[in-house]
Amino acid sequence: MSGFVFNEKPIQIERGDGSYVYDDSGTEYLDMGASYACVPLGHGHPAVHEAVTEQFEKLTYVQASYPNAARTALYELLAETAPGDIGNTWLCNSGTEANEAALKFARSATGDSKVVATMKGFHGRTMGALATTWKDKYKKPYEPLIGDVEFVPYDDIDALEEAIDDDTAAFIVEPVQGEGGINPASREYLQAAREVTEATGTALIFDEVQTGMGRTGALWNAQRANVTPDMVTAAKGLGNGFPVGATLCRDWIAEDYGSHASTFSGGPVISAAAGATVSTLIEDSVPGNAAVVGDYLTTELEAAIGDEVRDIRAEGLMIGVEVGRGANKALKQLALNHQVLALPAGRTVVRLLPPLTIGEEEADEVVEAMAEVVTD
Ligand SMILES: *Cc1c(COP(=O)(O)O)cnc(C)c1O
Repeated sequence: MSGFVFNEKPIQIERGDGSYVYDDSGTEYLDMGASYACVPLGHGHPAVHEAVTEQFEKLTYVQASYPNAARTALYELLAETAPGDIGNTWLCNSGTEANEAALKFARSATGDSKVVATMKGFHGRTMGALATTWKDKYKKPYEPLIGDVEFVPYDDIDALEEAIDDDTAAFIVEPVQGEGGINPASREYLQAAREVTEATGTALIFDEVQTGMGRTGALWNAQRANVTPDMVTAAKGLGNGFPVGATLCRDWIAEDYGSHASTFSGGPVISAAAGATVSTLIEDSVPGNAAVVGDYLTTELEAAIGDEVRDIRAEGLMIGVEVGRGANKALKQLALNHQVLALPAGRTVVRLLPPLTIGEEEADEVVEAMAEVVTD
């Protein structure tokens, strides 16, 4: 018997430490994808390790209908640090579940069903979230999905104003598209989205599964754009490797959310992991480091390979290098010849989502490797 979903890579990772991972022969790799943005504090961060170990020894799991101290503390921490007046948290196990809940809450709170989503957007692969994901490849084999989803071109204010009306339940958007190729939206677009959704009683959902947890230079990208959405979703980096997702809501959503639940919601161990992750991000000013090192890395990449590649797009430490059709070949060379692990974003973009704790030395290492790979 064997697994069948993932096309496994020829490197077996056995150990991680900070920005580096080690394979079964002891070879060291710089993890510039942070394993899909899931370890913003780097591998094996002591604060997360300690919080989880302590909680694990006390209580591994208790049904969600009993409060647990780790979950209560996480609710408080998220309310304190969320954009604007967002103060209510639903916890789950993944990004797609966080978006699934957001879509359900929006339909319940507005009484409407239509959802507007963006071309090239990615919101997950369960049936509801999948219906708002753009790529046909992910959707076709499973159709029909939930109806009533309209796709608009990304970062196009006129198209958005045209699509959203009084019967729209939600507009779901990544403030920087990740899977779609690292496409940052303009602040004007995000602010216009806030205005038109407000005027029509539509729930504005920021999918911050990838942009959240400091990745773009603030804990939440919404704070950089100075927009308070009605819901923000998180997952990937939230537990620094532990499976936890969250749907953060304003009061009007939480007051009329309908009926929703999940057995593992906010278990003590993952709550402890997320609590330690978020508090360390804040205490160590990690989003600030992402802004500074992100700018440095992007500037150095522009200088070294700007003329060799089609485009470089970035916000903080969410960086896409558009190399053309050879993205997979470049990724393979980076891994096997330079021991740098990066990610694709579609077929044409090399995506960098490193731990947010990296410094200039690691940035320099990547620039050198990228320069050799793209001029090869
Ligand atoms: C990864 C991702 C998801 C899906 O998260 P899963 O945990 O894989 O279900 C949703 N939205 C965005 C923006 C993502 O990057």
